[in-house]
Amino acid sequence: MIQFPEFERSPIDIHSHFNHGVPGEYGTVEYLNTSQCQIPFLLAENKRFGIKEIAFSSYSAVLCSDYICEENQYLNDLVHNTEGIYQWAVLHPEQPKTFEQVDAMLGDKKVLGIKIHPYFHKYKMVERADRIFSFANERDAVVMMHPAATECMMEFADKYPRMKLIIAHLAGETEIKAIKYAKHQNIYADTSGSLSALNNVIEYACEQIGSEKILFGTDTYSLTFQYSRVALAKISHAEKENIFYKNAIKLFPWAFEK
Ligand SMILES: [Zn+2]
Repeated sequence: MIQFPEFERSPIDIHSHFNHGVPGEYGTVEYLNTSQCQIPFLLAENKRFGIKEIAFSSYSAVLCSDYICEENQYLNDLVHNTEGIYQWAVLHPEQPKTFEQVDAMLGDKKVLGIKIHPYFHKYKMVERADRIFSFANERDAVVMMHPAATECMMEFADKYPRMKLIIAHLAGETEIKAIKYAKHQNIYADTSGSLSALNNVIEYACEQIGSEKILFGTDTYSLTFQYSRVALAKISHAEKENIFYKNAIKLFPWAFEK
């Protein structure tokens, strides 16, 4: 029987979301997502797996463009009142108010960086990339992007070397190429979502780009799956440690270096 390995430190989930009963959020089907994406459910699941740190952006803020500032503020208040939860500040390139708000939030010990979602916020990433990445670059910020125009990201990462870009939902060759050939090595990927279910995707990525470029995340999808996928992957223990927590500590020392 395969055994679960032991780790020195608990994993860090750098990519999650939550519902809290407001307009714009995810899931109208009860058993799918509505209650199962509320913070108490997610924290209870995390506890089961010994996960003590989780970084969120609210579903309402990423799935819809109408409530971003309110949702960023809601989460900011929450992270300061709740141990072990962290924030991605959501930015919309066509909403100047979000730039002001995110600017004020960067530097907060509980804020990991900037979250963008071109698909649900309905803009073309290549058209808005300069605006977003120049802003991040000036602030040495980390940007987490829902995959969009991934094949063009290397060019932007080369142009803005002080920003770091995490492409969510590692799926294969497109992200791997961007990460591999970025001149300043400032592109990363996370394992969140269902695409890490692909056979060999994490293993292949480790071989091609190294485990130092891959971070652990769930995107709210079953921790039973997400945790096991990395813990039991056909990679070395040191690689698992990198993915589960070492890379996150390196990228966000203000939040996780104790
Ligand atoms: Zn997500």
